[in-house]
Amino acid sequence: MFKIEEVRDLAREAVAELDPACLDGRDAAMLAEAAAEGAKLLDAATAILAKRAADTNAWRRTSRAATAEQWLATMSGCTEGAARETLATAQRLDSLPATAERLRSGELSLAQAAQVSAGAIVDPSAEPRLLRTAKHSGMRELRAEKERVVAAATDELEAHQRAKQDRHLRTWTHGFATHGSFSGPTEDVAKILAALEPLAKARFAQARTAGVRESRDAYRFDALVTAVTSVTATRPATASSASNAAACVLVDLGSLLDGKTASGGTCEIPGVGPVPVEHAREVLSHGLLQLVITDGVDVQTVVSNTRHIPPALKIAIAVRDRTCKIRGCDCDRMLERHHTVDYVDSHRSTYTELGNLCPKHHDLVTNKHYTTTDNRDGTWDLHAPAHFTGSAMANAPPGEAAA
Ligand SMILES: [Zn+2]
Repeated sequence: MFKIEEVRDLAREAVAELDPACLDGRDAAMLAEAAAEGAKLLDAATAILAKRAADTNAWRRTSRAATAEQWLATMSGCTEGAARETLATAQRLDSLPATAERLRSGELSLAQAAQVSAGAIVDPSAEPRLLRTAKHSGMRELRAEKERVVAAATDELEAHQRAKQDRHLRTWTHGFATHGSFSGPTEDVAKILAALEPLAKARFAQARTAGVRESRDAYRFDALVTAVTSVTATRPATASSASNAAACVLVDLGSLLDGKTASGGTCEIPGVGPVPVEHAREVLSHGLLQLVITDGVDVQTVVSNTRHIPPALKIAIAVRDRTCKIRGCDCDRMLERHHTVDYVDSHRSTYTELGNLCPKHHDLVTNKHYTTTDNRDGTWDLHAPAHFTGSAMANAPPGEAAA
């Protein structure tokens, strides 16, 4: 019997015997961590072995599936798309030993390895950076970093042309709901999202006052309806906020001078995604717009269309804190600026004293007496007020925290 078969049999036995009611909460948490780690390792084994079976066509002996993807999908109970991604990840890992090793040690999940390898395969020099992102950040940031790597390694003009050609807005109806999807050049989508943001925030604030909590996506949908149906919509305000967002580009100096995103470089609309350097140059050519030039680590120079500090500071913070600053929270939408030193006392807004928080964490620190402390990596730890015993509630969403 192979070791993997023994592990499977042991796991089957262990799961069948599990009686969560007999465990105290701490043991349950510890065992959940162990099980998650085991699942990561078994996922890695599945990917590696399935690729070997696919390469040798041996899967055909036991299955009537038409393709190796279908075989893996049926066997694992996942979609064919997910199975294809698993096999593609295993394929890429053949030429990325460092990522393969982290996957085999259980340090990376298969989903993380898929993101790291998708970026590293087009730009091997980005592999260490992607591995660091996987270790220290959430899945959302890892995916965004991979997108940056892929964008930098792609022929920008061609990719941009393709995005333009493939642009679409489709809808299809199921029952009483109509679903939709759209795709287009990122700078155009950014205009749409930026126009919706203030309307979505207004809906969120309205709902909060009424004591209602719905998803961010629901408020964005409401915002879209408001934007397109409101006859009395303040057109100048909407148009200007949309063009402002599309005009705010984060780019490193090397890429800007080269005319192409360098490996490890950045050219993106913050909070939306990578755009061709050509777009940044176009923004710059208008002279009066906002362009943030970085050295790849921190904001080096802020060029703004006004002489006031606040807009520049706003951009610098938006660029630095692209997700909520609370460690472990990777929310990147509807972020709100938080003063660590009460503005009423200090009468100043500085780069070091401000940070972006998601609405739920901002609510905890402004209304529920939670406090924050700085971490060396720029994130903040969240601490529950003294009347919550233990630190277990820190970093919990407000729903659980208040319960
Ligand atoms: Zn948060």
